[in-house]
Amino acid sequence: FHILGRKLNESYRLIEYQAVMDALTSIPNRHSFSETILREYTLCRNRDVTLSVIMCDIDHFKNFNDYYGHMQGDACLREVAQCIKNSLKRPGDFCARFGGEEFIVILPNSSRKGALIVTERIRAEIENLKIAHVHSTHGGVVTVSIGMVTSRDVDSESYEQLIQAADEAMYSAKESGRNQVCCYQRGN
Ligand code: GH3
Ligand code: MG
Ligand code: MG
Repeated sequence: FHILGRKLNESYRLIEYQAVMDALTSIPNRHSFSETILREYTLCRNRDVTLSVIMCDIDHFKNFNDYYGHMQGDACLREVAQCIKNSLKRPGDFCARFGGEEFIVILPNSSRKGALIVTERIRAEIENLKIAHVHSTHGGVVTVSIGMVTSRDVDSESYEQLIQAADEAMYSAKESGRNQVCCYQRGN
């Protein structure tokens, strides 16, 4: 009976884990992100502190898959995800796989200046992984384009607007030549 109880417990914990983690990269999944951003957004608002959101997209990843194959693509996604996770230092910082080759980071209680330091660190550390990419436009290695937004820079009534702003900034980074950080600012 004890053994059965333990087995059920283990199964339950596995199901719980699978519900919040991305199976490929072993970092939190989109669902987990949605819950976390809602909680952190509300908390930061109530405490009147800023919240920063970072949107990160791998450059020319379709070409990477086409050239190296899907398995290598998956391995690349795992490496990038772990790199982003390891570049976060504060206990409240959170990262998740947002979709395909896109990752999102939440930095609660983080000013634009502080968030920009973290964002630039993520960009540099991914470049420093030196994952070979023949179609790269930056030194033959995998790079990312990143958009960053701080809640004070958006007249945000909802966290969705923050995500939207981070996404827009990320597209600016793409347009400006990739492998760079763009910061969303009021009036942009
Ligand atoms: P850009 O620099 O503009 O971002 O170009 P891109 O090629 O990265 O962007 P695009 O959105 O055209 O392609 C994204 C690619 O990501 C398409 C798909 O092959 C790949 N991808 C998405 N999810 C996965 C996955 O789970 N595993 C692998 N291996 N590839 C994936
Ligand atoms: Mg993309
Ligand atoms: Mg991409």
